[in-house]
Amino acid sequence: MRRSVILVVLAALLTAGVAPSAAQSRPLRYVIIMSFDGLRPDALRQVMPAGLLVRAAYSWDAKTTLPSSTMPSHASMLSGVGPDVHTVRFNDWRPSRGYFRLATIFSVTTASGKTSAAFVTKSKLLFFTRPGTVAHAEHLQFPAYDQTAATRAAMRYLTRAQPHLLFIHLADPDDAGHAHGWMSAPYMAAVRKVPDTIGIVLDVLNRMLANDQSLVIVTADHGGHRRTHGTADPQDVTIPWLAFGAVEPGPVRRTIMTYDTAATALAALGLSIPASWRGTSILPLGRNR
Ligand SMILES: [Zn+2]
Repeated sequence: MRRSVILVVLAALLTAGVAPSAAQSRPLRYVIIMSFDGLRPDALRQVMPAGLLVRAAYSWDAKTTLPSSTMPSHASMLSGVGPDVHTVRFNDWRPSRGYFRLATIFSVTTASGKTSAAFVTKSKLLFFTRPGTVAHAEHLQFPAYDQTAATRAAMRYLTRAQPHLLFIHLADPDDAGHAHGWMSAPYMAAVRKVPDTIGIVLDVLNRMLANDQSLVIVTADHGGHRRTHGTADPQDVTIPWLAFGAVEPGPVRRTIMTYDTAATALAALGLSIPASWRGTSILPLGRNR
């Protein structure tokens, strides 16, 4: 009797995030990460329908790492470590340069016997999809594949292949920001489509009867100011972080770093977070508020 009480207390401590590397007690079937390139939280907040936000656990004040550029920031988001460890400073890539060598959410998921896939709208992001670490990696060229078309393509794959982990990169906000300026009318037009893009994913999961077995993380690699980004300016560094599915809705009170996205994805799938990772899982989300 006493022993079972101790076990219950231990289990409660673990699920309360006291041991951040502990796997989540009830593994989810699907984790989907949507990275909207260059999406500023203050922009998304302006256009976020209340009916959608009420379903999310969210922070408008998550942070990426420095430099706040696409490749270094995605390295942190996908590998659970900071730039001091992953050392990605460059911002362009072609296959002849070789693939990212450290563990990623893809490699850990695949090594565990589960499946992962990536759909990216900038080919350089294939850097993170070393052959053998993903079941499927596909470049959907922007702007032919805008956020709507790219997400629909990824959902067709999800429905057919049912990977446990799916990463979707969407270039729209960044493209408008560089061309016309962050927070400009064309930039806001791209951001205004983001809630509907999230809705495409939630609708598909709903049809699969999988909403309560899923975690959908909506975030960004960086923000931007004027027509650029990459600096330590809060406008560049601050990113949105929203989670839908098997979460307790409401604001997340802890500081979220972009490398926490990697740890949260693994924990949601019931996988152990590598001890070398700096990121920690913010699940179970409701208990961290
Ligand atoms: Zn970017």
